[in-house]
Amino acid sequence: MEHRTVHKIRPPGKRVNFIRSLDRIRGLSDREKELLRPVIREFPFWINSYYLNLIDWNNPHDPLRRLIIPDLGELDDWGESDVSNEKAVTVADGVQHKYPRTVLFLVTENCAGCCRYCFRKRIFRDDGCETAGNINEGLDYIKARPEVDNVLLTGGDPLMLSTRRLENIISELRSIEHIRIIRLGTKIPAFNPHRILDDPELPKMLARYSYPESRIYMIAHFDHPRELTCEARKAVNTIQAAGVIILNQNPIIRGISDQPDTMATLWKELSYLGVAQYYVFQTRPTIGNKPYTVPIVEAYFKIEEAKKRCSGLAKRIKYVMSHSSGKIEIVGVDRRHIYMKYHRAKHPRDDQRFFVCYRDDEAFWLDQLKPADRHRSNNEFRGMTLSPSWN
Ligand code: SF4
Repeated sequence: MEHRTVHKIRPPGKRVNFIRSLDRIRGLSDREKELLRPVIREFPFWINSYYLNLIDWNNPHDPLRRLIIPDLGELDDWGESDVSNEKAVTVADGVQHKYPRTVLFLVTENCAGCCRYCFRKRIFRDDGCETAGNINEGLDYIKARPEVDNVLLTGGDPLMLSTRRLENIISELRSIEHIRIIRLGTKIPAFNPHRILDDPELPKMLARYSYPESRIYMIAHFDHPRELTCEARKAVNTIQAAGVIILNQNPIIRGISDQPDTMATLWKELSYLGVAQYYVFQTRPTIGNKPYTVPIVEAYFKIEEAKKRCSGLAKRIKYVMSHSSGKIEIVGVDRRHIYMKYHRAKHPRDDQRFFVCYRDDEAFWLDQLKPADRHRSNNEFRGMTLSPSWN
């Protein structure tokens, strides 16, 4: 199937160009380009010149190359389009409402590059029909729900919007009394920090709406320490100076962010910048993502190993799975069991519920695990062994 081109990308940073053709990537050989053409016919592909320049073309396994350059394994028949069933919680144009206090507002289907492992790649293929065409419907929905106190602007990447358009949305949200926290989910500081550095109006605008008693949060998406370039660090500092709190979250991806050393370095470097690592996500088994997934047990022990190398400030992470039933924290693994807890639940009956599954070292999603004892208490959980056996 030929992938339909739906993006009208206007480069937000003057010095950055967007590239949508493999032919324009000099680091790839002609043979590699030919091999990869079927992948980009099936799945979206684009990159920008800033990120392209970070790739080490002498290393075929370079993690940044892996993040943005297609992989033949994406064509394996595997996974689902909408693993976490986001369509089921889509309640208005671009609005997802799964947890009582939080609303996700998908304000654009554009990003500064296309991460190969993206779990929302369906929105790039479906003409962005899950993102907000008209924001008024979403705003009306939020206004009518006083229980909602925080809104996550996502997509796509909200920093792909012009500053004026973003301000329209943020100012509308700020006029709703019950909205205390506005979050911006963005990979722009990693993909194209010039979007921030070249637009002095952006930090000024954010400073106007990030109040001391009601902050704006930026949830950045750095996957690898090499994305923390001088420009990226400067962009982070610029946003922090505007009074915005920055946190980082990313999925654990095979060949990119799945080594304890890589994770520990990333979390430590971020902590030096004043950015806390928030979630590490289990990669969703989305169509095309087979080459990027890491089984739960392996991921758990690698994350624990990375934590050993970090200060308390650098390892404030939660390893979670965004399942259709809620956000599930993987809290422990022993010889026979995997221990989990609902960090956020779709149904109130699951709120904070602790549960146990039989250990399966091949499983990469909850649905593949067999429940062991749904009523096991937290007391029994104490004293479990955390010795890795995957290596
Ligand atoms: S930045 Fe986020 S939404 Fe955009 S392609 Fe990457 S993972 Fe997907």
